[in-house]
Amino acid sequence: AKEGGRNTYQFYLPEMNALALQRLQLQMELRGALERREFLLHYQPKVDLASGRISGFEALLRWQHPVRGLVPPLQFISILEDTGLIIPVGEWVVRTVCEQLAHWQAVGITPRPVAINLSARQFQQCNLDTTIAAILDETGIDPGLLELELTESMLMSNPDDAARMLNTMRAHGVRLSVDDFGTGYSSLAYLKRFPLDALKIDRAFIRDVCTDADDATIALAIINLAHSLKLKVIAEGVESEDQLQFLRAQGCDEMQGYYFAKPLAIADCTRALVEDRRL
Ligand code: C2E
Ligand code: CA
Ligand code: CA
Ligand code: CA
Repeated sequence: AKEGGRNTYQFYLPEMNALALQRLQLQMELRGALERREFLLHYQPKVDLASGRISGFEALLRWQHPVRGLVPPLQFISILEDTGLIIPVGEWVVRTVCEQLAHWQAVGITPRPVAINLSARQFQQCNLDTTIAAILDETGIDPGLLELELTESMLMSNPDDAARMLNTMRAHGVRLSVDDFGTGYSSLAYLKRFPLDALKIDRAFIRDVCTDADDATIALAIINLAHSLKLKVIAEGVESEDQLQFLRAQGCDEMQGYYFAKPLAIADCTRALVEDRRL
């Protein structure tokens, strides 16, 4: 018989913390998840403050796990990035959104722009622009209906490459916005050089915007900065009437948050579009 020690698995266990094990488990399960069609998108409406109507959506990735249920992105996006799986999954997100836009158009529903979150790894792919252009071409949608959300760190880690990529995307007609604005470090000089359409004020500043003077100052500064650069400004994470009123008074253009709508399954989005509801 073999001596003990061959079965090293149980010796590893105490050394690995539960979190690392869980990550390893998820990593295994994420391989093949795309082929098994376990990913889906929820769409959170953005609301235009002047009209109260849906001005667009943000597509948010979900993983429908056979046992774990619906897994939120914070539990698996970083694993997709570390393993490189974010490249095919990210491409699936672009294609799914463009096909949805084409479908709305085909059934006579006026589509609204849909924003997609890009990961740093995706953005660094030098052929990202050709991939997106090919999908736009295949689906035949108006490129202005597709919006890409980038973070400050993605723009600032290599501003020259970022500017080149953004200029190409812009030349294709795609919209560009900066996500989680205010949490990273942006050089204002560079910000001006990028062909951007909108800044999204991070939820961290919106949460206490009515009670915390510093947060209110920051939110107002971002609104003014955006407008002076001729950009639209969107507040994320609006959960209350008070926040809505405050941001409206400060001239914020659009809002997104649980106060209006949570991320919705596609059937609910379509219904909201058909009814052209005021939110
Ligand atoms: P994010 O881009 O900042 O997206 C906003 C997140 O805030 C979403 O969480 C949304 O459900 C949540 N949220 C919206 N309104 C409210 C509100 O009023 N209150 C609160 N407490 N939360 C609100 P979610 O869907 O869990 O996504 C988390 C993050 O995962 C996203 O943050 C984004 O960075 C990333 N992510 C989601 N989908 C994708 C994707 O397709 N690709 C990539 N690369 N990242 C994605
Ligand atoms: Ca986002
Ligand atoms: Ca955000
Ligand atoms: Ca965020």
